[in-house]
Amino acid sequence: MLVQRPRLILGNEAIAYGALASGVSVAAGYPGTPSTEIIETLMKFKDVYAEWSSNEKIAFETAYGSAIMGARSLVTMKHVGMNVASDSIMSSSYTGVSGALVIVSAGDPGMWSSQSEQDIRHYGLMGLIPIIEPFDPQSAHDLTMRAFEISSKVGHPVILSTNTRISHVRSSVKIAPFSDPIRGKLNKNPFKYSLVPEVAKKDREEQLERWNKIKEEVSDMIITEGSGEKVVVGVGISYSYVKELVQLLNPHNVKVIGVTSSVPVPESILKELEGADEVLVIEELDPIVENQIKEMVVDNGLHLKIMGKRLTGRVGEMDMDRVARALSEFLNIEVKREVSSERSLEIPSRPPAMCSGCPHRSSFFFLKRGISLGGLKETFYSGDIGCYSLGLLPPFNEQDSLISMGSSMGVANGVYRATSIIPIAIIGDSTFFHSGLAGVANAVFNNLPVLILVLDNRSTAMTGQQPSPSTAIDILDAAKGLGVKYVDVGDPFSPDFSKKIAKAVDWVKKNNGPALVVAKRACALVAIDKVKPTQLAVVDMRKCTGCTICYDHFTCPAILKREDKKAFINPTECIGCGACVPVCPFNAISLQGEKPEGWDEAWTG
Ligand code: SF4
Ligand code: SF4
Repeated sequence: MLVQRPRLILGNEAIAYGALASGVSVAAGYPGTPSTEIIETLMKFKDVYAEWSSNEKIAFETAYGSAIMGARSLVTMKHVGMNVASDSIMSSSYTGVSGALVIVSAGDPGMWSSQSEQDIRHYGLMGLIPIIEPFDPQSAHDLTMRAFEISSKVGHPVILSTNTRISHVRSSVKIAPFSDPIRGKLNKNPFKYSLVPEVAKKDREEQLERWNKIKEEVSDMIITEGSGEKVVVGVGISYSYVKELVQLLNPHNVKVIGVTSSVPVPESILKELEGADEVLVIEELDPIVENQIKEMVVDNGLHLKIMGKRLTGRVGEMDMDRVARALSEFLNIEVKREVSSERSLEIPSRPPAMCSGCPHRSSFFFLKRGISLGGLKETFYSGDIGCYSLGLLPPFNEQDSLISMGSSMGVANGVYRATSIIPIAIIGDSTFFHSGLAGVANAVFNNLPVLILVLDNRSTAMTGQQPSPSTAIDILDAAKGLGVKYVDVGDPFSPDFSKKIAKAVDWVKKNNGPALVVAKRACALVAIDKVKPTQLAVVDMRKCTGCTICYDHFTCPAILKREDKKAFINPTECIGCGACVPVCPFNAISLQGEKPEGWDEAWTG
């Protein structure tokens, strides 16, 4: 019997502990909110190999390579990471695995920190890969174990689909004891794992056989409570909301079914629908479960009215209010929810802001000056995904597009080909190694006149300062290796940075090819984590003219505007980075205090 002890943990930690209980020995991921804490938790366990890979495809291939050697492995990513890894993921469904392979994809309905809220369950339908959906942290832990069990029993990859509400909520979880990591051993089977046409055709047959086994394996993955002619089916977090509301309303004649395998939906659900008149399916995003139930109902000649997206909508996060509204219409009852006074407080909406001391602020500030110095009258800022996406907002307005990891150079290429306007491609150091390298190669190969600005803050900062390959590989060397003829590096805190930009722009104009400049300075949070700041910036009121540049155009949150328009620096916000010092044209800002030991090194990583 398992000895379990409850602990207050995040849903993501619960997934990591479920993996440890299942004997995971290899784990890889690319940081992406809201999935990041899974790998961070596993990294604390020395007998598990856990890495941050350079992108989701590599992370998946690492886990897959281990799983075909018989190991139990895990890969994590956010929902859009599935797009990057999907090429290899689709093939893994053909070959299967010999150990166990669990893919955790954390979705972001409502797009709190993502470019889309795509429903990754379509990958399950397309690739014949089961999708398991937890509904709270405890089920996240238990269903991770179930995912490993199914994967190892059938020899097939399994996707665990979680989301922000499950991954980032903290609750009491009973944790199963950890198992010894199950490692692999050399296991060569090219006629299974090398997808040349003859092998792929055979593997396709085997994939379909495994799919039938999976249908049997998931047949018990529904939870039923109550009875009645009206049935409410809840999937993932929506099941938790349905349970809570039905408990609160206590309506007559209602059966609640929780579905934890959304692809394939267990066929056993048909038995639970016997005697029902109407069914409401509540799930986030697309009608994946709803459509599968409709198909089963039609195939089996049942007469049932199935509702779902018509009542719940398919945009954004599901929440109690949305579920309450759908239930109210479905059950034809008034659903009043008690809203606590705390929840009814108006929370002012504030635009996201770069941190005090963020090097990206300085990069954007001096980039604009440099472009103008270099004589570019107009340009297109082709951005990428990272903290620097905030350059989109005023006062900078230096992002004209940003659509996916590594897209900056490809989009810049398209813009130039259509307009002949020299673009600026802006990419982070982690993103450069994630998927930017191919864009650099294309720019060299096709002579794209572009200024590539790599904002190297020495980490994957947006998701919590995970390490970036930039700390091991010199970006200038990588660019030179790909054939970029003009490369330079500068400190974005220095006004000389705009001169470097101007020089590079001039080179691009004259040579009709790509130039690359690296703005190298660590994420402020990384730097102050290493060395405690002991300096502060102060404004000399005699010199300050109230020109507004430091607070309106540079916008460090520590710099405030006084009533007389002069600047004031809030000592509790200022980290003493010194970035604002060269920004003031009247030399009114200076640093006071001793520079701490190791300060400069902390900023260059
Ligand atoms: S930039 Fe200098 S002069 Fe202008 S408001 Fe700030 S401190 Fe005062
Ligand atoms: S030194 Fe200047 S830029 Fe740095 S945190 Fe303080 S006020 Fe902001």
